[in-house]
Amino acid sequence: MSGAREKLEAAFAQWLGAKYAFAFWKGRVAMYVILRALGIGGGDEVIVPGYTCVAVARPIKYVGARPVYVDIEPVTFNMDPAKIEAKLSGKTRLIVAQHTYGYPAEMDAILDIARHRSLPVIEDSCLALGSTYKGRRTGTLTLAAYWSMQWSKTFTTGFGGIATTDDADLAAKIERLARQEAREPGLKEATLLAAMRTVHRLLAFPKTVSRMQAVYRRLSDAGLVAINPPGAEQVRFTPAFFKRLGAAQARVGLQHVHRLDANLAHRRRLMRLYDRLLAERGWPMPRIPDYMDPVLVRYPVRVADKAAAIALAQARRLELGTWFDCPLHQIDVPMETFDYAWGMCPISEKAARETVNLPTHPRVGERLARQVVDLVCEIGSAK
Ligand SMILES: *Cc1c(COP(=O)(O)O)cnc(C)c1O
Repeated sequence: MSGAREKLEAAFAQWLGAKYAFAFWKGRVAMYVILRALGIGGGDEVIVPGYTCVAVARPIKYVGARPVYVDIEPVTFNMDPAKIEAKLSGKTRLIVAQHTYGYPAEMDAILDIARHRSLPVIEDSCLALGSTYKGRRTGTLTLAAYWSMQWSKTFTTGFGGIATTDDADLAAKIERLARQEAREPGLKEATLLAAMRTVHRLLAFPKTVSRMQAVYRRLSDAGLVAINPPGAEQVRFTPAFFKRLGAAQARVGLQHVHRLDANLAHRRRLMRLYDRLLAERGWPMPRIPDYMDPVLVRYPVRVADKAAAIALAQARRLELGTWFDCPLHQIDVPMETFDYAWGMCPISEKAARETVNLPTHPRVGERLARQVVDLVCEIGSAK
């Protein structure tokens, strides 16, 4: 019980206030193992928001089930509980409540619907580390939750994911699946990831973008970026994915958990700063229910011209996020592959057309925050 991964799992569980935590290769692997432990499989339907990462749809399809998309409400970008009922069928086996950008989903309403139909609910907490809903932490509100430690999340171990639960029976099933089927990452993968973490650290400083690009080119020449450039998520879910978190990643993760409260405090400060700066400029401010206390991993804003905003950010070398670009972000095949048809979730599609996001991570200071606010104000808000 003294390996690096076990230490990270224990520290994360303790920080969160969950009984069990299991660390895996990616967030989608943590989700996959929860699906497996719940017995979700062929012919089953899983309710997800129609404004999500393709990483969410992949494990659902991989176990043979079908994602069913519920449109979002426009303020928090989360699944609209009023639209769930119409999507339930005799095959529905699970609801995945995702806390988008860090805004908690409307959990009471979702849990109510689930209770009436005796459906389990799990949380996609990949973007909501530290957020609370009615005073309780997101990721502790349902049967189980999964987390991601991918490059763009609250803290990163390169790739990485954690499944958490308070349920002893589910935890035993996850533990058994991990023991019987999951592999340890190989030395080559661990080495590649360590190289990628270095690149990512450089990438994270706007000033070193060109230096990073040079390093990245060199790694790429050496065949070292075979895994994935930071941010890109084009990989398929394959059996080889069912891996645990590597020891080097776990050590990095443990350091981050020790610094987590400072990380979250910084993100809260930046969110308040963005709130203030944008309100001063007359930006239309969304009204978040006061029983939600979000920690935003990115600060979403709706702009009049998303393409122009992105072009301006590139010209000024400012960090501006584009996700989610479509209801299944970073998909590289037709959305029908994942059972999404255009027009299914119009509010989500509109949000994807309009929304960019501002960074809140620990390396963003007030000056940079002001620069990105200036930028979006130059573009103007969406109507
Ligand atoms: C990042 C993310 C995931 C999981 O991503 P992995 O790359 O598999 O770690 C899942 N859901 C959402 C909403 C995410 O943002």
